[in-house]
Amino acid sequence: MRPSRTETDRLAARVAVAAGRELRTVTSPLNGGVVGEVPIGTAEDVAAAVAECRRVQQRWAATPVKDRAAVLLRYHDLVLDHQEELLDLIQAENGKARVWAFEEILDQAVTARYYARLAPRALKPHRRLTALPGLVSATEHHVPKGIVGVISPWNYPLVLALSDALAALVAGNGIVIKPDSQTPFTAIRAFELLEEAGLPAGLVQIVTGPGTAVGTAIIESTDYVMFTGSTATGRTIGGQAGERLIGFSAELGGKNAMVITSDADLDRTVEGATVGCFANTGQLCISIERIYVDQSIAPAFTTRFAARVEALKLGAEQSYGAEVGALASQAQLDKMVEHLDDAVAKGATVLAGGKARPEIGPWFFEPTVLADVTAEMAVHREETFGPLVSIYPYTSVAEAVAEVNDSEYGLNASVYCGDVKKGTAIAEQLMAGTVNVNDGYSSGWASVDAPMGGMKASGVGRRHGRDGLLKYTESQTIAVRSALAQKLQDPGPDGTGYAKRFTKILRAAKHLPR
Ligand code: NAD
Repeated sequence: MRPSRTETDRLAARVAVAAGRELRTVTSPLNGGVVGEVPIGTAEDVAAAVAECRRVQQRWAATPVKDRAAVLLRYHDLVLDHQEELLDLIQAENGKARVWAFEEILDQAVTARYYARLAPRALKPHRRLTALPGLVSATEHHVPKGIVGVISPWNYPLVLALSDALAALVAGNGIVIKPDSQTPFTAIRAFELLEEAGLPAGLVQIVTGPGTAVGTAIIESTDYVMFTGSTATGRTIGGQAGERLIGFSAELGGKNAMVITSDADLDRTVEGATVGCFANTGQLCISIERIYVDQSIAPAFTTRFAARVEALKLGAEQSYGAEVGALASQAQLDKMVEHLDDAVAKGATVLAGGKARPEIGPWFFEPTVLADVTAEMAVHREETFGPLVSIYPYTSVAEAVAEVNDSEYGLNASVYCGDVKKGTAIAEQLMAGTVNVNDGYSSGWASVDAPMGGMKASGVGRRHGRDGLLKYTESQTIAVRSALAQKLQDPGPDGTGYAKRFTKILRAAKHLPR
């Protein structure tokens, strides 16, 4: 298995902890082998990391934005150049098929290029309209927050550790990050590439360790928190950030749905649904776990979809070829089995898959399609976060829309429809932060200039777009009053001058173009 132990030991040495900390073993979902060991950090390690990061960040904030952006563009090239090595790392510690690991490389290049180009424009001071144009001038500035704490999960070890960090860094911040302990090496190597690209040493501090100790310490000592993970943890962290009155952004869970209308192109829909449900072994916050299909085409769609899913190629090799990789851990496998067993015990029908595949690797499980799912089954409402999807035929689009929206979550949705106008009109009725027409998830995610995030219990704030950059800054308005404005405020001998003059000015201002 790649990478070698020598390489992961070298990467582990970059973690910002005191010498002699206990170690945690990182196990590969591909074959149960040891990928490496990382230190178990503590609150004291976080305090030291934040102090060092603050020292370096002051210099970085004073660096011109175009120079900060140039680092991201060099990182863009380095990620593409080092893609095989990064793909090996992602596969080794997460277990996903290489084709889905490549999506992470794509994302890094697109995100780095986007923020490198946007930042100089978006962060430069902008003149703003004032109540007294010509008499008072106002400029909006964007000042970095300072130190941004990033807490990331294991399902996209590169994207979810780096993408938000790239925006925060180009905005002039330092980063203290806790990647998930199960997938730390990809993040460590990618931040090393950022240093190679010109990021000052020490501006990013990586502390591995448990969420309760290291995560909490990060929330208690940084100036803004970016969290990606479960809704349950998001609620806890949101409360802690609220106590400190620091900004907080969260990308959380989903129970994402697809609506298929009667005129949808079946070939395209079957392929799109297969990717939408089973990319990344279904361990994707925006993947589809519920399919609502018009009853007139439900039999044809279901038969073809089940056959396509049965034919998916599972594999543990570190090369292209397999379509579905491993689940990432025993906990993920347990959740998958729990949801499936509960559904089957309550009357659901398995149309495809349904079995663990330990002969391939310890946590492999077949992509699974269910029918006859009812509201009593856990899988109806709860996120499985695995390769399990339920099919529900519907009689009217209004009924499908109501079913999709009847969820505590609102992260992503998909509409497959022959008529794009009609599909877009359906999309507008769905309560989800991104809706993909004739795609499962990737078009919405890759529209990097548009905000991405969740409604309802799926998130707070947005990543991508200007929102995803400016949230890492404090906006500061600097207003300058002219001598004439001061004169106009003179109340005069009888005290009415100010009010009379401004009444006139307001009446005249109403007719100005803006
Ligand atoms: P999780 O919430 O258990 O863990 C995520 C991260 O938070 C890990 O690094 C973990 O160590 C840390 N953490 C755990 N408890 C903490 C605490 N009390 N304080 C601080 N940090 C703590 O989530 P997970 O199971 O690892 O990830 C899967 C979940 O993430 C799914 O629900 C999935 O939908 C969601 N997710 C959302 C997005 C998105 O963009 N919306 C992306 C990926 C994953």
